[in-house]
Amino acid sequence: MFDKVLIANRGEIALRIQRACHELGVQTVAIHSEADRDAKHVRLASQAICIGPASPGRSYLNQAAILLAAELSGAQAVHPGYGFLSENAGFADRVEAAGMVFIGPRPDAIRTMGDKVAAKRAMREAGVPCVPGPDGALPEDGAQIQAIAREIGYPVIVKASGGGGGRGMRIVQTESQLLDAISVTREEARRAFGNPELYIEKFLEHPRHVEIQVLCDNYGNALWLGCRDCSMQRRHQKVVEEAPAPGIPAELIAQVGERCADACRQIGYRGAGTFEFLYEDGAFFFIEMNTRLQVEHPVTEMTSGVDIVQEQIRIAAGEPLRIKQSDIKVNGHSIECRINAEDPYACTPCPGKITRWDLPGGNGVRVDTHATAGYVVPPYYDSLIAKLIVHGATREEALARMRLALLEMQVEGISTNIPLQREILQDPGFCAGEFDIHHLERWLKQRQAA
Ligand code: ADP
Repeated sequence: MFDKVLIANRGEIALRIQRACHELGVQTVAIHSEADRDAKHVRLASQAICIGPASPGRSYLNQAAILLAAELSGAQAVHPGYGFLSENAGFADRVEAAGMVFIGPRPDAIRTMGDKVAAKRAMREAGVPCVPGPDGALPEDGAQIQAIAREIGYPVIVKASGGGGGRGMRIVQTESQLLDAISVTREEARRAFGNPELYIEKFLEHPRHVEIQVLCDNYGNALWLGCRDCSMQRRHQKVVEEAPAPGIPAELIAQVGERCADACRQIGYRGAGTFEFLYEDGAFFFIEMNTRLQVEHPVTEMTSGVDIVQEQIRIAAGEPLRIKQSDIKVNGHSIECRINAEDPYACTPCPGKITRWDLPGGNGVRVDTHATAGYVVPPYYDSLIAKLIVHGATREEALARMRLALLEMQVEGISTNIPLQREILQDPGFCAGEFDIHHLERWLKQRQAA
């Protein structure tokens, strides 16, 4: 095992990773910006190094400063968390070139999965079900593009291979809109991602977002840890997540889970990862793979009993997986509500000083947060301030527990989305498990109109 790990992140996830390290007897190095000088993970770290001013570009994204801090501190490994540099293959390369371990997949796997069309090709070859459409880049010729779209059938979605964060996509309803949509998206992709390559696939109209968590070691062992439903989204941002996905037969999930684990073995994947699927009319369609820890990993931890972050660290240290697929059972149901410092309905960020911070508790309640009473939410970063996670024997029990936890949670001084989360937990569609990825936005529109 490592003696010392540098955590290249901030907020709740820095604290989450720090706890996993300390539980394993590993010392931690917290890097931080000037704005995060008093942060909880900085206070609790074995060692802390300020790497730059508040602006993320000059601190948490500043590769040279982070590498220097790692070398000075004597850390043997770097955990990137999520966001920031977590899916930056160049950074992973530099960490390894400096003689340290990047706690994540090998850089080439990050690179392949970061290119959506390459990822789709790799997954189709490995037998993972994909959205209908070719797994190659679009040609330049208009007539050829039209023929491809006709073969798929409208509506189709045009996507940039280098896209991410919900950008670089355009839905096309009819052939008359196709070529214009292609040229606009190509231009956008060239400017935003430096890569004009596009592909098209069938646009699914009412899918759910269902994902599979995997864990793989360096010795060809790959496991899937169950599925999550993250359909409750707003502007492509997940708001509520749960495990398992309600109403999908366990045998079907197991089939897809096995395909994901097989694909990992075939591509020699290492570490934790997530296969994201759209699920419609009883079928799964792969859209992308995230080669990092996800915000919503706790719902899988609560239902599988596996500490995903500890496993990431053990795998990176060269240990073989200690568990087998047959050891993993889905136990009960878990729900996570993301608590953001924002106006609950307008969704605009609301930084500032927290004057009251009362957290819920009791059986089956977990809160992952870096905030406290008196904490000042800085304006420079993501607005996530806490993740409220509950576990129950059944989905009904988890829903009841979450309703109570949201009532107990009292925050003053800043606006949060807690009022919105309380309403979602009363929404009959959500409670019945009957929703698709448009449900939350549809519901918000109706609410606004009323
Ligand atoms: P990003 O990397 O930008 O998040 P994704 O490929 O994961 O891009 O797609 C983001 C979102 O766009 C999905 O969660 C889904 O809501 C929508 N989407 C993507 N592909 C399709 C599709 N083929 N049909 C319907 N919706 C899609």
